[in-house]
Amino acid sequence: MLSGILLRKQGIRVQWITFETPFFSSEKAKKASKAAGIPLMVENITPIYLDMLTDPNCGYGKNMNPCMDCHALMFKLAGRIMKEKGFDFLFSGEVLGQRPMSQTMNSLRYVEKQSGFEGYILRPLSAKKLPETIPEQQGMVKRDLLMDISGRSRKPQIKLAKEFGIKNYPSPAGGCLLTDKGYASRLKDLFDHQDTYTERELHLLKHGRHLRLNNATKIIVGRTQKDNENIQKFYDPNLDTMIKVKKIPGPIVIIPNGGKKDVRMLAASICVGYSKAPEITPVDVSVTSPQAHDTVRVIGVPPKEIKHFLIQ
Ligand code: SF4
Repeated sequence: MLSGILLRKQGIRVQWITFETPFFSSEKAKKASKAAGIPLMVENITPIYLDMLTDPNCGYGKNMNPCMDCHALMFKLAGRIMKEKGFDFLFSGEVLGQRPMSQTMNSLRYVEKQSGFEGYILRPLSAKKLPETIPEQQGMVKRDLLMDISGRSRKPQIKLAKEFGIKNYPSPAGGCLLTDKGYASRLKDLFDHQDTYTERELHLLKHGRHLRLNNATKIIVGRTQKDNENIQKFYDPNLDTMIKVKKIPGPIVIIPNGGKKDVRMLAASICVGYSKAPEITPVDVSVTSPQAHDTVRVIGVPPKEIKHFLIQ
């Protein structure tokens, strides 16, 4: 918001672009666009992002976050749009030294080089601490009206926000889902067991407990009512098997992409184990696969006995 407004104050017409994948959304950008009155383009980049994510040049951060190559990809895609639509340069709100890995001088240079738009990426908040860019050299942007912010403190940005009259702004984000330990473990498990992944499978990784039963099969068990709702939202009746205890409150369990009969029976017992069914008592469970709808009678497996299946 600050970098966009700073440029607009120079009389430059600015537009934002934000990218979406199952790992990060455009919600905050949409709110910012509304608040600042800066138009926003939203692009879903999941397929191309996945290509990068499975083998990022600079590897991952603490979890499955490929921050350097993520930034580079975003600038590359934004640069293509810049060319297509006839914009003059790219800018971002990055601040030199704000983040330990992705915003050091070397990282900013790497990103610029990899994006294919060297010289065209302006960081208005740190511009005076960085080499002059082409739009500055060509007089499109007045360098003396840009900032020289660097480091981890947010005080200069908060001061600037006050000056610009921005009252509601998102708190500094910790990172996308790829920086989350639990999500990263489940994603790694998916990468280790499948060659291709759908967007739906990546959304499913956000909800419930995930248990890997064998190389070909994992199950997802709802932990809460909200989990159950979300799992049902991404459940595909043409591909998945859904399991639910009859007449007794319990979780929704799904087996993405089906599952053989023995696995379905095990999943049904696990489902009972997490339900309110009495221990060591056979109960009826409904099992709906793409081929058939059955009722099976099973005894629950206590959660403590299946801990080794948990992906965490
Ligand atoms: S935290 Fe996520 S969205 Fe942000 S740079 Fe890293 S990988 Fe990309």
